[in-house]
Amino acid sequence: MRNHQLRRRTGSVRTRWLSVTGFGVVVLAVGSLVLWHGQVGELFGLAADKEPVVSSVNAPAISEPPPTTAVPTPTKTPTRKPTRKPTKEPTKQPTKTSDKPSYDEESIDGLSPTLKSRLKKAMAAAKADGVTLRITSGRRSAAKQQRLLNEAIKKYGSYTAATRWVLPPKYSAHVHGKAVDIGPAAAMQWLNRNGYRYGICRRYDNEPWHFEALTTPGKKCPPREPYSRPVPD
Ligand SMILES: [Zn+2]
Repeated sequence: MRNHQLRRRTGSVRTRWLSVTGFGVVVLAVGSLVLWHGQVGELFGLAADKEPVVSSVNAPAISEPPPTTAVPTPTKTPTRKPTRKPTKEPTKQPTKTSDKPSYDEESIDGLSPTLKSRLKKAMAAAKADGVTLRITSGRRSAAKQQRLLNEAIKKYGSYTAATRWVLPPKYSAHVHGKAVDIGPAAAMQWLNRNGYRYGICRRYDNEPWHFEALTTPGKKCPPREPYSRPVPD
């Protein structure tokens, strides 16, 4: 009995071992099949494992657009700025251009209609006498007048002393086209003697070159002033 039972037991053990071994082989086979399928699937891109890889690839691809869309925004901003800048620059330029006279300072064109017509007649008469009246300074811009005043303040040491020679833009007859500086010396002398015939007079003692339309043509000129003063013209 014992031997038989041992044989039975041995046989049953062998049967169990074989079944366990067979099961293990099956598991290994199935497992290898799964692994093989997985490898083949990866090769063809069909494996489920690759989806997360694909999605992970897509993820940065999706996450890239935000920075791509974020880049256009700063690109648009600088695009707007230069668009605004040129808009501002031309706005400033006309301001500067309007500040500058469109005529030459030594031209008769910037003068007031009255002084201009009178000076033309005087120039023709002087030419007949063999004298050329040359305009050294006619109408000035306010900016130019201010520069001249600033230079005069440095030269004469004070504002009051400077205004005896150069008035502030607000009070300057040159800025209003109502004064003209004449040269050379022979022309100053001719106009000082004959200017009243055309209503043009020398105004200041210290400026033999400075003339304005101060009287009715043919009438005597008013008394000269010693020098210019910053009073309303
Ligand atoms: Zn002058």
